[in-house]
Amino acid sequence: RERADLLAAVPRGLWLGGEQVPATGGGAFPVHDPATGAVLTEVADATAADGAHALDAAAAAQPGWAATPARQRAEILRRAWELINARRDDFAMLMTLEMGKPLAESYGEVTYGGEFLRWFAEEAVRINGRYTHSPSGAGRILVTKQPVGPALAITPWNFPLAMGTRKIAPAFAAGCTMVVKPAAETPLTMLLLGEIFAEAGLPSGVLSILPTARAARLTDPLFADARLRKVTFTGSTAIGKILLAQSASRVLRTSMELGGNAPFVVFADADLDAALDGALAAKMRNTGEACTAANRFHVDNAVRAEFTDRFTERMRALKIGAGHLDGVQVGPLISEEQRDSVAELVADAVSKGARITTGGARVSGSGYFYEPTVLADVPAEARILREEVFGPVAAITGFDGEAAGVAAANATEFGLAAYIYTTDLDRALRVAESVESGMVGINRGIISDVAAPFGGIKESGLGREAGSEGIEEYLETKYIALP
Ligand code: ADP
Repeated sequence: RERADLLAAVPRGLWLGGEQVPATGGGAFPVHDPATGAVLTEVADATAADGAHALDAAAAAQPGWAATPARQRAEILRRAWELINARRDDFAMLMTLEMGKPLAESYGEVTYGGEFLRWFAEEAVRINGRYTHSPSGAGRILVTKQPVGPALAITPWNFPLAMGTRKIAPAFAAGCTMVVKPAAETPLTMLLLGEIFAEAGLPSGVLSILPTARAARLTDPLFADARLRKVTFTGSTAIGKILLAQSASRVLRTSMELGGNAPFVVFADADLDAALDGALAAKMRNTGEACTAANRFHVDNAVRAEFTDRFTERMRALKIGAGHLDGVQVGPLISEEQRDSVAELVADAVSKGARITTGGARVSGSGYFYEPTVLADVPAEARILREEVFGPVAAITGFDGEAAGVAAANATEFGLAAYIYTTDLDRALRVAESVESGMVGINRGIISDVAAPFGGIKESGLGREAGSEGIEEYLETKYIALP
């Protein structure tokens, strides 16, 4: 399908309670192509009143949805998964257009993002409780699970489909209704998903999708509304802290997938070929715009020079360009601000003594491209070792011995993902257990998996998505006392 035809066919109104409605009082806001900076289209901007209507619909639909047989909810999810796959080309092109990632990666996200619907279709029918006796013999204990209730999902732009489906699918599987506020940069993918769910037979009211360029105007009143029971957020730690404070006023259930600062630790005994493949994947997937992206490379000094040289070659060879072009491996960053922040972290590291071995500059011309960059000899005081770069920049620093490698990995307030390369099994397990993060990859650069619990510790968040754990975020536990 031609890009113009695709854009013309994508819903651009609000998705309110199961149908598309045109912009109300909020007008519209533009969506940009980060590869050119040009406006792709405009999307309706949801107001606080739209938010209230969406929550009206979610609250009204909640009892019926919770009472809908799990098998029926599962089959809607399963149908939606099939429909996403039937429209793979449209979803992939749309993500490349509004987010910029290379088309091959967009196809990867269609598969990965779609999988949450299939996975949670399978989990929906396995929500179990238990029956036991009080130790005193005085009574019986019945434990059951119930949906939390209407939930608000706030999602980021970096995975326009998967960050939605990873929340929507477990919510629906558990029997919760949901209002989604997608990132203003990438609302089109989520709006198309709304259409998919309608086609899959989702009852009206269960899902609303409200794009807006003014997030707080829409969501602040929702946090104050007693009908909302749950907030699930993926985004920065700074915004997550604000939303946690807002949630506190009504003791909302929260799931928070926040920032990361993933260490990639290469021990002296590592298989360097494997480590280089893993490093490239962990750094460059999604052009570095992933919260699990390797942010800092801690390499044992025994192999540091070789790793740096060979990684530099690999980074230099990557093809940069608009995501829909053949063979492109590195797309644009999402915005000029994002590119400026990447450039600033590079400048800071260089001013403190880091050495650029490749890249280190914006790509001239239109679009928000930044060269794949390797910084060697990065000193401890460089900001890039502490802050998430969210771009195609690898900072390499050395250490001596296992204890120093672990200490370096843990020197951060974040704790989302960590990557370890070693061929020593004892060391791999020892280090994996000592690393302070919710997820650890051993000799693997890509760890996300629909069947595994995704989430962080420390300031990287609360709760887990996906896996068999993911549905728990949308369930309450009820104890029923029996004689
Ligand atoms: P990123 O750096 O990935 O854009 P943010 O944390 O700024 O991360 O944004 C993630 C999501 O949170 C986006 O959908 C954004 O619109 C939303 N958001 C940002 N600020 C607020 C806020 N004050 N209230 C509610 N949502 C917000």
